[in-house]
Amino acid sequence: MKVLSVASEVFPLVKTGGLADVAGALPLALAPSGISMRTIVPGYPVVLAKIGTTRQVAELPDLLGRPARLLFAEHAGLELYVIDCAELYDREGGPYVDTEGKDYIDNWQRFAALARAAVDLANGLDPDWAPDLLHGHDWQAGLVPLYLKYSEVGPHTPSVLTIHNIAFQGQFSAQIFPALGLPPAAFAVDGVEYYGDVGYLKGGLRTAWAITTVSPTYAEEILEPQFGMGLEGLIGERVHDLIGIVNGIDDAVWNPATDSQIAATYDAKRLAARAANREALEKRFGLAATDGPIFCVVSRLTWQKGIDLVIDAADEIVRHGGKLAVLGSGDPVLEAGMRAAAERHPGRVAIVFGYDEPLSHLMQAGADAILIPSRFEPCGLTQLYGLRYGCVPVVGRTGGLADTIIDANGAALAAGAATGIQFSPIDRHGFGQALRRAFRLFEDKAAWRRIQKTAMSADVSWQTGAGQYASLYKTLINRVAVP
Ligand code: ADP
Repeated sequence: MKVLSVASEVFPLVKTGGLADVAGALPLALAPSGISMRTIVPGYPVVLAKIGTTRQVAELPDLLGRPARLLFAEHAGLELYVIDCAELYDREGGPYVDTEGKDYIDNWQRFAALARAAVDLANGLDPDWAPDLLHGHDWQAGLVPLYLKYSEVGPHTPSVLTIHNIAFQGQFSAQIFPALGLPPAAFAVDGVEYYGDVGYLKGGLRTAWAITTVSPTYAEEILEPQFGMGLEGLIGERVHDLIGIVNGIDDAVWNPATDSQIAATYDAKRLAARAANREALEKRFGLAATDGPIFCVVSRLTWQKGIDLVIDAADEIVRHGGKLAVLGSGDPVLEAGMRAAAERHPGRVAIVFGYDEPLSHLMQAGADAILIPSRFEPCGLTQLYGLRYGCVPVVGRTGGLADTIIDANGAALAAGAATGIQFSPIDRHGFGQALRRAFRLFEDKAAWRRIQKTAMSADVSWQTGAGQYASLYKTLINRVAVP
């Protein structure tokens, strides 16, 4: 079976969040099931610089009005189609925003081009390889099911659209519609029309053969206005075509036994190396060498991630003898709040601003617990790394956090099943209670160690998830075969 994955970012070429990790890991995880997955990505400068040798697959003299070339390359075990179109992708700045953090004004065209080229591949653009099924990610691939629907192969080529975060929807003025090259009929309630605008995610969710999201709980949550961000009605109509599949982690990149950033942590019997990592972490953050628990945060500093709750809790953490180490950047107000907490509590609260992959490994390896009080979290990856490294996750009961962490309540502790602490409601009160439970459990050394060991043996691989994607693809392709 041949599947084309359509992604606006893919690890290790270009990453701004969890989507890149999924797009990078899934093709490798699917290979044992006999699925050949290729990935089409925009040719951002970082992508073109990293891929090395390429083969030109096709000239595209008029890709939504722009001259482009489609290249093929192999990199880090991935088979990639790269759209080389300087007018659309040769920019300073990130994949979506310029150097000042503003969305590129032609993002509608940059990602319509991605979807258009993907569907052209389904229609035979590469004489040597054509996908049986198209799998797009997020609003950037939202037009894939639409272009497919109106193309020659549409009736017998299934499409899957995965929602990694429904908060980002790709909504643009109706004025762009004529330039998309879709028939007028597509500007309708059962197409891309969305409150008089053009909605890429909305159109994709309307027309994809199947919809997935990155955890079963998030799949339920987006049926509700609080999480559905205006699309809950549409999701409700398509609920029978919706499935939640939890992400795995790249267990070669996140392997405490071989992690070169840290002393090896993985020792199922004794967790021996954690002490050395903890010391290294204290030194790196200038924290005092005291006995209380070290809580860490590795995150975008945003309201979604509940960072205001962490700032509010800092004084209490210190009063109870704990310490707090934070790595991240984001909202200036939250950055200032974090900085103020660190200034109030030197040696107890410390923050490193910025993005630092090696340091994020040391934090998972050396901190006692990782705080993830997200208000919503489609899947979340940092709790999975925490499990693997024995850094006990303290998480809000939402989305993928609810699906991957087993709360240390009395029954779970007695059964030896607990892997972390979950709390609800996700507010100051709920979070405060969770922290008090964490302190109590941490004092009971045997109980804490048992949680760490259970956490470290939890399955956080891609195996289950890849199997679920494989069987979804098979179901859809069998549907084509039925007349
Ligand atoms: P989201 O995609 O919503 O940001 P996820 O938990 O799904 O959240 O993925 C975040 C990814 O980015 C994880 O791999 C995490 O380790 C990483 N990350 C977040 N902030 C930083 C940072 N400041 N430095 C290094 N890695 C970070």
